[in-house]
Amino acid sequence: MRILVQKFGGSSVADLECMKKVRAKVLAAHEEGYKVVVVLSARYGQTNSLLERAYQWSDEPDLAELDVLLTTGEQESVALFAMLLKDAGIKARSFLGFQIPLISDDAFGNARIDEIDAASLRKALETYDVLVVAGFQGRTRDMRLTTLGRGGSDTSAVALAAALGEGTLCDIYTDVDGVYTTDPRLCKDAHKVDRISYDEMLEMASMGAKVLQIRSVEIAEKYNVPVRVRSTFSNDPGTLLTKEDSMMESVLVSGIAFDKDQARVTLCDVRDRPGIAASIFSPLGEAGIVVDMIIQTASRDGVTDMAFTVSRKDLKRTLDTLGKANVECSHIESAQNISKVSVVGVGMRNHSGAAGRVFNALYKAGVNLIMISTSEVKISCLVDDADLELAVNVLHKEFNL
Ligand code: ADP
Ligand code: ASP
Ligand code: MG
Repeated sequence: MRILVQKFGGSSVADLECMKKVRAKVLAAHEEGYKVVVVLSARYGQTNSLLERAYQWSDEPDLAELDVLLTTGEQESVALFAMLLKDAGIKARSFLGFQIPLISDDAFGNARIDEIDAASLRKALETYDVLVVAGFQGRTRDMRLTTLGRGGSDTSAVALAAALGEGTLCDIYTDVDGVYTTDPRLCKDAHKVDRISYDEMLEMASMGAKVLQIRSVEIAEKYNVPVRVRSTFSNDPGTLLTKEDSMMESVLVSGIAFDKDQARVTLCDVRDRPGIAASIFSPLGEAGIVVDMIIQTASRDGVTDMAFTVSRKDLKRTLDTLGKANVECSHIESAQNISKVSVVGVGMRNHSGAAGRVFNALYKAGVNLIMISTSEVKISCLVDDADLELAVNVLHKEFNL
């Protein structure tokens, strides 16, 4: 049995017209002789509007119940799409996450997949030609519904392909032709790449390129799933995610990613003594808040400033947690009008000079750098929101992408 997993995102299933384009892609794969597992997202905007509704009902919605609500978005998509397939004479049925089952931990809203029992899908594929699976959702071992974090349908699709066994291909269909050198919405010179290594894609996704959810790339690499990113609205072959090869290393920079979901917190005049960092970051860790960049300024008269970034949605909780932790400082400042821009490339491992080029190019364009962080395959700078588009375009040009 040759199995193909095809995942379609929110804009691909937005309305009946879009869903008919999706159906054409699925029919084409079926005609090629594949058994098809179609993974769908909620219709465009649906997850956001369900979230908004929850916050109208409750200031702090119960996370488990929020997941029960959010899973309805994908449930709507799979039911409607299975109907469309049946109208075209295809033997198809829908599957919700819990029916497979896709088992996750109980981190509601951001659950991690523990196990997928693909036997039920394989069995169903003996009877049906196409299975329409709800992305983004699973259940805990004690039968509570969960969701896998924003963009989680990518992860459902890749994990299903891994669970269905070696040789299962996974095509991620979206509203752009593949993975670009940077988000084509922000830079008109961005162009599609034919191939990208798992590591580079992981770094791009981690730095904010939301074309694939980070976890989907981790799973693709771990289980060696051949993933292609392509468009529902064209016939372009898309971008193939593969293992790194020597040709890729010779390219210094492969892409520019950015993340607008950044907030900065500064603790001013912190007492500079051993243990102070632990007293700040341990309570944040216990509260499940992910801290990104951290900067401690040089000590003056026994005090220092400590600044770090968190996701905007975590800012309020971060300030509440620090308030309760009674950190020894004069006051705490915060800002939300900042973004992170990152230059990514595995070639940086073996070439020097990239950092200098980044700082120089941004300096010449008059972009102020608020914070900097580097790893062996990326350089990230925190900039003012108002400078983001300029910074992305300047860096795209600097590295001749
Ligand atoms: P879907 O709903 O299909 O999952 P997403 O909106 O999650 O689609 O992801 C696709 C979007 O990702 C594109 O429309 C594009 O704006 C954005 N994007 C960001 N960075 C990149 C990149 N490097 N290459 C391609 N698309 C990118
Ligand atoms: N519907 C979910 C979201 O909007 C999952 C997804 O689209 O991948 O985040
Ligand atoms: Mg997505």
